[in-house]
Amino acid sequence: MSVMQVSTADSVATSNALLHRLKERIAASSVEKSFTVTNPADGSIVAKVPDLGAPKTEKAIALANDAQVAWAGLTAGERGAILRRWHDLILASEKELGEILTLEQGKPLAEARREVTFNASYIEWFAEEAKRAYGDVIPTSASSRRQLVIKQPVGIVGAITPWNFPSGMITRKAAPALAAGCVIILKPSDETPLSALALECLAEDAGFPAGVFQVITSKDPAPVAQTLTSHPLVRKISFTGSTRVGKLLMQQSADSVKRMSLELGGNAPLIVFDDADIDSAVAGALVAKFRNAGQTCICANRILLHTSIKDAFLDKFVAAAEAMNVGDGLDPSSDMGPMINTAAKNKVQALIADAVEKGATVSTSRHSSDVGNFMPPTILCDVTTDMDIAHTEIFGPVAPVLVFENDEDAIALANDTPYGLAAYFWTRKLSRAWRVAEQLEVGMVGLNDIAISGEATPFGGVKESGIGREGSRYGLDDYLNVKYIAMGGI
Ligand code: NAD
Repeated sequence: MSVMQVSTADSVATSNALLHRLKERIAASSVEKSFTVTNPADGSIVAKVPDLGAPKTEKAIALANDAQVAWAGLTAGERGAILRRWHDLILASEKELGEILTLEQGKPLAEARREVTFNASYIEWFAEEAKRAYGDVIPTSASSRRQLVIKQPVGIVGAITPWNFPSGMITRKAAPALAAGCVIILKPSDETPLSALALECLAEDAGFPAGVFQVITSKDPAPVAQTLTSHPLVRKISFTGSTRVGKLLMQQSADSVKRMSLELGGNAPLIVFDDADIDSAVAGALVAKFRNAGQTCICANRILLHTSIKDAFLDKFVAAAEAMNVGDGLDPSSDMGPMINTAAKNKVQALIADAVEKGATVSTSRHSSDVGNFMPPTILCDVTTDMDIAHTEIFGPVAPVLVFENDEDAIALANDTPYGLAAYFWTRKLSRAWRVAEQLEVGMVGLNDIAISGEATPFGGVKESGIGREGSRYGLDDYLNVKYIAMGGI
């Protein structure tokens, strides 16, 4: 297989009415500085977007503050109706949003379009869920008193998002925040700001009042983030990204004691026990490892195989990985697109080199797709815990394989990491299923399954993988304050 050479980026960009509209809006805005967004498949320039800094962020906070009271004062149903219109407009533009996403991020178009529609479901879901932000009436401790609990929006939210899901990571935050009655200022990744600007455009069409959903694009994240984290009017920081930056934002937010939602890095184990359905495990591992070129926080970062099924699993896993088509995301035959940039690819190659130097062996042979920002799906065997790759979030299409002899070893290996986002395992034994699921130190477990993400289920980690949950009723609570009212003199 070789990297597919296609030249459709220009024609896709020219025919995309939403991208055209974005470019016109940007051209009409009077910005002093801008930065370029490039296509990771070929390095071509997709667009120039405003490079805004601290002063513009200050203005956005002032505008958000003007909008906050009125937005919170609407009923959940009134807010929900606007959210619902946003959701419908996103679905109506899913092809254009998908193309914009592939142009700036690289993932295959079908994957990009699924990201747009799948994550729009968070908007629809939270538009309804906010109607159920129930309080409590607590049995009284004095006959002249009544004890009530109400839920109120946290206030202005500063959100910072990564490039690996340029659309999904935004709607997952914006939907619960806006539904709860918060207003939001979003700083997307400088690698993928166009999806955010496109969502902002559609939010305006949906009828969100000015100041309710604002996007600040910037090449230099630090001044924008510093303004959001230090400003007393911003009541919450919601961040998805690396653990390193998450810790930094937490430190910066400490002075004003902000509420935090942190969706950080992961080092997910995928464990295959001796009684597993091997075909199901291979199919799961293939998606959990190579989706989005391995650039997801819940990627299977380590494949842990029981010694007795190692060969049976690897025969099928290697064959399936070698059959994957690597190429431009706009080519319909591509199963996997490029890495986001050269630095990301270099990091992954350094991890492979370290592992090979320490005794790992490369079991796949797809060197032909190793060009530009593209990388072949790679499987590394004989990996041991002294190798960097066993402890680092790889964020690339490399599957390190480790072996274990018994359940205790598997659990110990799986938990041997400061991260605690996701884990997957395959077994058909009920007692093992319960025991292992309970012992894994993670926020999400996939048992004979990898589909652990959805609008109605809680997504998030423990340990250094973060704080808070996205999706589900727990996700709404992250944007609500609990207020107790004691009513005396009754
Ligand atoms: P990153 O931490 O480098 O960047 C994330 C965001 O933070 C971007 O908007 C970036 O501009 C901003 N940022 C970078 N440096 C900053 C600084 N010094 N101050 C303030 N803001 C700064 O992460 P990334 O490379 O964009 O994304 C990959 C990471 O995101 C991985 O670690 C991945 O696991 C994580 N992630 C986690 C989840 C989850 O739900 N847990 C989901 C997706 C991605």
